[in-house]
Amino acid sequence: MYPQHVLEEVRLENDIVDVISEYLPLKQKGTSYFGLCPFHNEKTPSFSVSSEKQFYYCFGCGAAGNVFTFVMQMENDTFPEAVQRLADRVHITLPTPQYTAEARLRQEQKQRLFQMHKEAGRFYYKKLHEPVGAEARAYLQKRQMKENIQKKFGIGYAPKDRQALYRHLQQSGFSQQELLQSGLITEKKDGKDYFDRFRNRLMFPILDIQGQVIGFGGRILSQGEPKYLNSPETLLFHKSRNLYGLNFAKNTKTREMILVEGYMDMISLYQAGFRNAVASLGTAFNQEHAKVLKKYADSVIVLYDSDDAGIMAAQRAIGVLKETGFHIKVLQVPDGKDPDEFIRQNGAEAFSALLANAVHYIRFQIQCLKKKYDLNEMSQKVAFTTQAAEILAGVENDIEKAVYAQEISHITGIAQNAIESETKKIQQKQENTFYESAEQKRQKSFQQQHSQKMTASKGILQAQRDILFLCASNVRIYEKMKEVFFAEDFLEPVYQRVYEKIAFLYEKSGTVFPGELINYFQLPQEQKLVAEIFAVVLEHTGLKDMEKALNEEIKRVKMAKLDRLAAEAKSIEQIQQLLTEKRKADSLYITITDG
Ligand SMILES: [Zn+2]
Repeated sequence: MYPQHVLEEVRLENDIVDVISEYLPLKQKGTSYFGLCPFHNEKTPSFSVSSEKQFYYCFGCGAAGNVFTFVMQMENDTFPEAVQRLADRVHITLPTPQYTAEARLRQEQKQRLFQMHKEAGRFYYKKLHEPVGAEARAYLQKRQMKENIQKKFGIGYAPKDRQALYRHLQQSGFSQQELLQSGLITEKKDGKDYFDRFRNRLMFPILDIQGQVIGFGGRILSQGEPKYLNSPETLLFHKSRNLYGLNFAKNTKTREMILVEGYMDMISLYQAGFRNAVASLGTAFNQEHAKVLKKYADSVIVLYDSDDAGIMAAQRAIGVLKETGFHIKVLQVPDGKDPDEFIRQNGAEAFSALLANAVHYIRFQIQCLKKKYDLNEMSQKVAFTTQAAEILAGVENDIEKAVYAQEISHITGIAQNAIESETKKIQQKQENTFYESAEQKRQKSFQQQHSQKMTASKGILQAQRDILFLCASNVRIYEKMKEVFFAEDFLEPVYQRVYEKIAFLYEKSGTVFPGELINYFQLPQEQKLVAEIFAVVLEHTGLKDMEKALNEEIKRVKMAKLDRLAAEAKSIEQIQQLLTEKRKADSLYITITDG
């Protein structure tokens, strides 16, 4: 998209230590900087940043990469977005991007789909206000949705007529192929008939963060299944990434969001003046959602239905939010009502009071746990308390912990200090296993990489990485290597390209910077493979040791490659030739220790 020299300029102007420091505090230790990893939950720093390599690596979760991949992960950006963001940061003006023909085509298709969705939204909105929309209007009235709110959210109606939208969009100039691509029109199995996906439904346009229509949700008006139907996954719509209402909620000043289950809940909160609500769309709240939300909020109030399904969904959402580092509270509407119902019956003020009483998620989890046990039974009481202590072990604040321990003691009659000491025990155990020091993690990751138990295929992958790591770190090793080891000897196509790029970079500048090397790879899965090369911790005691290890690895990779070729060989001659090469490979030895 951008020429390589432009990418390099942007990368070099954005020192990785400076950029990462803007997101999290880093402390210098020797040549590296350490901090708490932003990509997994941890209490002791295992996230390292190397200024020299312009590279980061986490010993806890394995996240690794250069300044672009860091920004991509933190901001949930695509590669071009990350380039733009970092170029802006240092006031570099990017040239007009050069799209490939394929990318340009995709962009055009997306533009057409945006236009079509806008047109479909208009169509549904118009139908709602025609005689055919009477039932839908009556429903909205019953739900007390005000007209200005209906308009703001673009609520519409999809008629019963099975080709109403189909005909309209066709007349508006959209091709058959485009119609099918949008998911708004479905093809009959025989391919001879087309019909509207949404029929006799109240329609909720789903907007992206910029406010463009990217899909629809439809609630059925008569009896029938499913009650709620969403657009399928398309070029525009990804339900695991989109949060309904975020285009409005992002404008609130608070860094707190209310997470609800459905469109109606979100809209009725909005109507009642709570502008910071979002809903996950026809899918469980997941890691992707949490990442998107993290841009706009630090704390979340989970407000799901209080039936069993709602409670389970809330528990799940809490788990996801905890992983992403949110401050979490839970609110349950009394008497099993959903939030929309409660507001309709009791008004905004009553809801506001309810909201103020949202409980810390720990209290919610203890409440849920309590329901599972009969506390009149001694053995169940003990089991409950033990499990509750497990939950308490996750609370950081000692005062909070004491408050909850007191509550549990009150419920069970078991002494508070017994609960607290049990909690402490669990916590210590957890700390010992999960929160090792960075040094321990580093050693462990080294041991894992080199343990005997490692499967053969993983061993080959690691051997290829070790070879590339040594080649990239030392030009003399590379000079020796290139005599006997060639790009096609690698089994992974990405590593073949890495080897070629190493050659290119030595030729160009005499050194290989990992941060620069990774820049030649723009697909996330490729970037990961390249990053992993530099995540190795090679702890050879001396040059002679390193030489021995390197030679073993060269041999192993060559043999594995020749075995693979032999398995695919088509003639006896070919196999014989491969056998000769295997013998050659077996007697191969390069020295890197001479002066
Ligand atoms: Zn990590």
